[in-house]
Amino acid sequence: MKIGIVGYGNLGRSLRGLIERDENLNLVKIFTRRDSNSFNDDKMESIKNLLEYKDKIDVLFLSLGSATDIPEMAPEIIKNFNTVDAYDNHAHIPQYFEKMDDIARKNNKVAFVSTGWDPGLFSLNRLIAESILTKGHTNTFWGRGVSQGHSDAVRRIKGVKRAVQYTIPKEEIIENIKENSKDYKSFETHNRLCYVVCEKKDEDRIRNEIVNMEDYFKPYETKVKFISEEEFEREHTNMPHGGHVIRVGETLENNREMYKFTLELDSNPDFTASVMISASRAVLKYVENKNYGAHTVLDTPPAYYNVLSHEELIKNYL
Ligand code: NDP
Repeated sequence: MKIGIVGYGNLGRSLRGLIERDENLNLVKIFTRRDSNSFNDDKMESIKNLLEYKDKIDVLFLSLGSATDIPEMAPEIIKNFNTVDAYDNHAHIPQYFEKMDDIARKNNKVAFVSTGWDPGLFSLNRLIAESILTKGHTNTFWGRGVSQGHSDAVRRIKGVKRAVQYTIPKEEIIENIKENSKDYKSFETHNRLCYVVCEKKDEDRIRNEIVNMEDYFKPYETKVKFISEEEFEREHTNMPHGGHVIRVGETLENNREMYKFTLELDSNPDFTASVMISASRAVLKYVENKNYGAHTVLDTPPAYYNVLSHEELIKNYL
């Protein structure tokens, strides 16, 4: 499969590493909005030349930011390429899906949208759990892990040199969830912990701004710890994450059945990139079947993610 990558951040770097070690995948180019020559790397190409590769790439991974990059750029790119993205702005996914579906159909292209782990594998597991256990409660627990969005929000505060935010689920709730099943609000089930590098004189103001930040930190219980640049570099530059989707359902005679799906990730971008690569195999199957338009994890047959034949899948996995 001939692959292109658009955007070279955390996710882009993980995609590259995983593609380069996979003998079935051939990385054609990585497209960037920055000066491609500044990378001193012959895989880097300016995004301005993307259209020259229209017939040289089977699937293009969009490893762009979800806040503004994807909504602005993906609807243009899908006119000429089959794409996979990890767009994670949950509230806007329905409109994004509609738009990509419409443009992809008109241009005989396939867009695999909003894959990854949440949205992505967690979404699929919420669906399966609720389809099986129709009466019950579903809760999602994130972490312990680094939230890029919350870390960025802290870094935007004046005087903050470096910052990272860990989302920490309340383990006692997870441990007792089978007995105390209900629909929790996420601020009831998670704490937030920030490590910040700044000048001593700014500490009180910065702590105050963090814990009172609407949408991101209020009404969560938030702790802020100030550390040295050396400690930050030593302890807080990895990107672990993970979490659980848990549904507790009631069946007959007060029986409770628990469906639990867990991820423990040393590297959020490496894992998300791995999920995106599995989706690219599905894209090829959709193209083969002329099933153009936008697709998600919720409507893709699981067999599409794997290179094995149907016969082998049944023999190996059923
Ligand atoms: P980054 O912020 O690392 O990169 C986003 C874009 O910013 C890049 O594509 C790159 O574009 C540009 N960029 C990166 N580094 C620099 C730099 N040093 N200077 C200037 N520009 C830079 O984001 P991530 O790769 O960590 O994540 C991408 C998206 O993936 C996130 O927005 C998140 O929403 C989503 N995601 C989804 C998950 C899921 O489960 N669905 C899980 C994890 C992430 P360019 O090369 O063109 O400059």
